[in-house]
Amino acid sequence: MATKRDYYEILGVDKNVSAEDLKKAYRKMAIKYHPDKNPDDPTAEEKFKEAAEAYDVLNDPQKKARYDQFGHAGMSGAAGGGYGAGGPTMDDIFSQFGDVFGDDSPFGSFFRGAQGGGGGRQRVRRGSDLRIKLKLNLQEVANGVEKKIKVKRHVTCTTCGGNGSKNGTAVQTCSTCSGTGQTRKVVNTMLGQMVSTSTCPTCNGEGKIVTDRCDACFGEGRVLQEDVIPIKIPAGVAEGIQLSVGGKGNVPPRGGVAGDLLIVIEEEEDADLKRDGNNVVFDLYINFVDAAIGTSVEVPTIDGKARITLEPGTQSGKILRLKGKGIKELNGYGRGDELVHVNVWTPKILSAEERSILEKLRNSPNFQPRPNKNEKGFFDKMKDFFHG
Ligand SMILES: [Zn+2]
Ligand SMILES: [Zn+2]
Repeated sequence: MATKRDYYEILGVDKNVSAEDLKKAYRKMAIKYHPDKNPDDPTAEEKFKEAAEAYDVLNDPQKKARYDQFGHAGMSGAAGGGYGAGGPTMDDIFSQFGDVFGDDSPFGSFFRGAQGGGGGRQRVRRGSDLRIKLKLNLQEVANGVEKKIKVKRHVTCTTCGGNGSKNGTAVQTCSTCSGTGQTRKVVNTMLGQMVSTSTCPTCNGEGKIVTDRCDACFGEGRVLQEDVIPIKIPAGVAEGIQLSVGGKGNVPPRGGVAGDLLIVIEEEEDADLKRDGNNVVFDLYINFVDAAIGTSVEVPTIDGKARITLEPGTQSGKILRLKGKGIKELNGYGRGDELVHVNVWTPKILSAEERSILEKLRNSPNFQPRPNKNEKGFFDKMKDFFHG
């Protein structure tokens, strides 16, 4: 291990340097040894980091005092410098730039922006999501269903293991960005220096260069494949709800994690039953003889049929409730009902005979409307059912 150089020597200042001169000295070194300005000098990045570490210590009165007293020995351990064992990372250094170039300048925020979360090296590339529509009938919506969905998605190429190189080995770290995928530029302007970060043009931000392409995926590291993905649709979903299956989307080119498979629910309209929240509504039509005498009829339900009894004297607008014949609550335990809405059919065409029979009943006392004032009208009943 090389011996560490003296911090004052690195920055070319003496022990009594003012804060302003220290900052100037560091700026000079940072610009001189910036890795982007010295692509052919492998020691530049080391010198750049060395300067940053020196500045970090000398700029902090407590650290400076400890360094003045004990030298480098005083800087090790938890009480020492702000950097870990490996010295400062490039991100640490760039996070200093706001200080060095002035946080109160209009560029303070620019510097912070340029650091952009700072996680350039740890960034895991994520592939795109796949979005598909899935049509479900009322029965599937009500009870939940398991489906097998065929999708064409990009999966990791097994020949090269996803890096796109021949046999998975013909790959090198990009020398332009040292594998970070980003290049940083210090630009001199009238107002001072600005740092900008951009995607490395040599490797397109991937940090690696493939020197010989994989034949199976033409260097893309992924291949298009038809997959059958089993999914469990919970009961109670509705039109427009989006379900996601993690990691079943596309993998990005040349390695990374797959996106998600997003399933957008579409509800098929049922011929008989209309959905209203977790209830289903069936419009039943009966003739007025059945309404007057009473009858028993079959009505469709989500899972089949049910027989219901209509009392003699059933009024149009009556709502019968079939408990638990509705849709299961999404992520819950309850279940909606089926509401049978009774409509009494009034004949539109009458034969002479039918007409004469009805004429005889026209003035019959029991055919005179005698609504019960306590009985609620149709709209009140609907209100009770849906909001009560
Ligand atoms: Zn391949
Ligand atoms: Zn690169």
